[in-house]
Amino acid sequence: MTLLLCLFLLARAPQSMTEGPARTGWEAIERGDGEKAAAAFRRALADNPRDAGSLAGSAMASHLLGRDDQAISVLKRALEIEPDFAYAAYLLGQFAYAQGDLDLAIKSYERALQIQPGNRSAYKQLEDWKKEAELHSGFTTRPGVRFNILFEGPEQQVIAARVSNALEAAYARVGSSLGVYPPETITAILYSREQFRDVTKSPPWAAGAYDGRIRIPVLGSLRTPGELDRVVTHEYVHAALRSLAPRGLPFWLNEGLATYFEPVDHAWLEQRLRTARTTIPMSELEQSFGRLDGADALLAYAQGFTAARMLAHRLGSNFPVFLQYVGNGTSLEQALLLFNITDADVQHTWRR
Ligand SMILES: [Zn+2]
Repeated sequence: MTLLLCLFLLARAPQSMTEGPARTGWEAIERGDGEKAAAAFRRALADNPRDAGSLAGSAMASHLLGRDDQAISVLKRALEIEPDFAYAAYLLGQFAYAQGDLDLAIKSYERALQIQPGNRSAYKQLEDWKKEAELHSGFTTRPGVRFNILFEGPEQQVIAARVSNALEAAYARVGSSLGVYPPETITAILYSREQFRDVTKSPPWAAGAYDGRIRIPVLGSLRTPGELDRVVTHEYVHAALRSLAPRGLPFWLNEGLATYFEPVDHAWLEQRLRTARTTIPMSELEQSFGRLDGADALLAYAQGFTAARMLAHRLGSNFPVFLQYVGNGTSLEQALLLFNITDADVQHTWRR
């Protein structure tokens, strides 16, 4: 979601006015090549360290490389140098939101809209963020070292405790399997089903979401605590994978791993795959499952799960290394080949 809006905003990026290394940098960004872009903007900034356009470009490059923290500090500098730079303010808002800094996201969009009023989609986004901030301001926080848990009202206290235990258990389990222990404090927010839909705009079949924060609808979930543990673990895996592979993973792999680590029996998912007449092609599973209807989504998760499980078995202790390769921009095909696995092996797990 973040990246799409960034590309949309790119139309307003200052590349058309630039020449030399900065132009090379913007061209690299359009191709999605973060490394080339970062190198080009480094050269541009060596010549002119106070060029706000190149600073914005360098921030976009950092974003493509999975370093939103770096992108944010560079954008702040760009806005100090050129306070009326609307594009930098938009980017800052996007990256701040992705990092879970809702206040900074709101302030940045307010600033961007002050400089450049009339952008309706940005205005709508700002309204949504303000609603989210207002909702959270009434929430209670259960602070911790590894996890902050936000929830509404004392009646959710018991659920928050359960969520906290599930998160700690997932932290240990995923850590021992993948060797990843996210250093930053992760925020988990507990909602009613209606609040969850409002904030995440997720499809009706979604049981949780991760967008830099773990978001879970929990009302009534103590009636099925096992299901709550499953969802909490699933979303935590997404958070851990972001730490391990900040540039992202193909969707089926990300979802497949999150499903694989759920502390439940997945026979029902395998059953879904067994009774499917056709499977979804791998290329389609690389993008978000959000567009799929319930039946297809289930099949997509089933395929992701069986492939992730096969990889976990085949790769064993090399699994974290493999994920780092993919998360650092190596194509999936190449990363698999390094460990003597092919795309066909993955697809084979879907046909059996
Ligand atoms: Zn998921």
